[in-house]
Amino acid sequence: MTTLIKSLNDIKDALNVSKREIGFVPTMGALHAGHISLIKASKQECKTTFVSIFVNPKQFSPGEDFDKYPRDLEADIKICKELGVEYVFTPEIEDIYPSETPTKIISPPTSLTEMLCGLSRKDFFPGVATVVKRLLEIIAPDYAYFGEKDLQQLYVIRWLVKEYKIPTFIRACPIVREKNGLACSSRNRYLNSEKKELASQIYESLKMAKRDVKSGIFTANKAALESLVYLSQFPDIKVEYFEARSKENLEKVIDNRTKGFHYLIAVKLGDVRLIDNIEV
Ligand code: AMP
Repeated sequence: MTTLIKSLNDIKDALNVSKREIGFVPTMGALHAGHISLIKASKQECKTTFVSIFVNPKQFSPGEDFDKYPRDLEADIKICKELGVEYVFTPEIEDIYPSETPTKIISPPTSLTEMLCGLSRKDFFPGVATVVKRLLEIIAPDYAYFGEKDLQQLYVIRWLVKEYKIPTFIRACPIVREKNGLACSSRNRYLNSEKKELASQIYESLKMAKRDVKSGIFTANKAALESLVYLSQFPDIKVEYFEARSKENLEKVIDNRTKGFHYLIAVKLGDVRLIDNIEV
């Protein structure tokens, strides 16, 4: 049975009767196959699964799509029920950021944020770190599940649990894609079928760079440039970055590496910002 929890008091009751291990999947809702894979991983590993649905205002900067962010609670709850999720937590803003105690915004290290998505989304990683810390404190799960699609976010979360000695194991789950290769994202709902087709070029460009490195045609950074050239034939795809970053710490890849790194990309397709990455 799936229980819907809307308040902090109710979550305390739920935690008191929950069998451990507890698995936790934090989301902003508008659930899709990517979220579903995280929930399935938790169901497989843990006795009790909590899914939170909370569109976190702190990770949106003014002018970003907080108001427009897709919300579909009814459909989300249905999915959670079908998957056998024990608890769906839909907190109010006041539960997460109580107005009587000013929220301390977490600042992850600039070595993780002053690059890639952090350059264009100043509030994003502090907002994510702040909400995830709060949720992990409330639920105190044994495991929490995150997608590799948001790779930079995953590094920030790993930093967070280490920095604050949060006793939760972080599990990273592989990217789930639509049939045409486009990484599943709540924001894909903004795309019409033509734009979706075009967006499949994002993954094509990542695969191309990987192929170019693996076949020895180009070094890691040259291959990234070649993919940028490839994408330039699609003027509706505005690339924000396409970079090779090391697996260890997301540092720039400056050597002739042929493995142990990721290509990461962010683009804008009209108003819709999409990210993706591939492991090399
Ligand atoms: P969001 O609701 O966008 O905040 O995402 C919630 C979680 O789902 C995050 O850990 C994401 O990394 C993960 N996620 C989103 N899209 C995908 C995907 N295509 N494949 C795997 N995980 C994903």
